[in-house]
Amino acid sequence: MAVGVVAAAGLSAPGPLDHQTGVILTTQNIAGFVDANFPLAARVAAGLGGPPVFLDRDTVMAAIGEGTVGAAKGARDFVYLTVSTGVGGAIVSGGRMVRGASNTAGELGHFPVGMDRDVRCRCGSFGCVEAYAAGRNLAEAYGVADASIVYAKAAVGDPRAAALIARAEAALANLVVGIVNALNPERIVVGGSVAEHEPAHVIEPMRRAIAERAFKVPAGAVRIVPSALAGDVSIVGAALAARDRAAGRGQWFL
Ligand SMILES: [Zn+2]
Repeated sequence: MAVGVVAAAGLSAPGPLDHQTGVILTTQNIAGFVDANFPLAARVAAGLGGPPVFLDRDTVMAAIGEGTVGAAKGARDFVYLTVSTGVGGAIVSGGRMVRGASNTAGELGHFPVGMDRDVRCRCGSFGCVEAYAAGRNLAEAYGVADASIVYAKAAVGDPRAAALIARAEAALANLVVGIVNALNPERIVVGGSVAEHEPAHVIEPMRRAIAERAFKVPAGAVRIVPSALAGDVSIVGAALAARDRAAGRGQWFL
């Protein structure tokens, strides 16, 4: 049997990171990477013994996947949003990935949507959409291990669970109305495990809020769609990013 040669590899990781140098700057979410400036791409390339390795943020890889072969295919202005253990995203504007001055653009989970100082976020701030709507935060606020329990309790009429979920829905609604008004995307692709399992509590409240109170012109231009690539989205994106960067292409996302 013929064995293919590995021409390149793609790596998807939480940020902040430098996608040009392949260095993880800092991340609280992976044990061992805490003090960082960790040259992850170079370490993996050394381990693989030759092929180039390309690193990028997990949500950026997801946007590359959805934009190339998924739910944002053909769109030049779109936002990828994940509602999962955390909340995150990536922004593509005019056919280019928005990177910002230090590569953190698109970290939509830390967009402040509330003014309640008691709703603390891991980033050190308060009122971030992640603090209300991320699966981990919902579970912690209710006092259980998994957000699916909170949704199940709400479904059988538990008022405390229902209130937490209503608050999460309101936070996500504020976020997407802000995204539509500020960025005028043609699509918002919503992925992540919470969105996948609870679309009636994630995608539907977003659609209602945009119809009710976003600016009319951008509201008429946008569609909120579920991820087409689901749990594989970052892996697909990483493979596509590696292929394109190794071939000297992929300028739209660099
Ligand atoms: Zn935050």
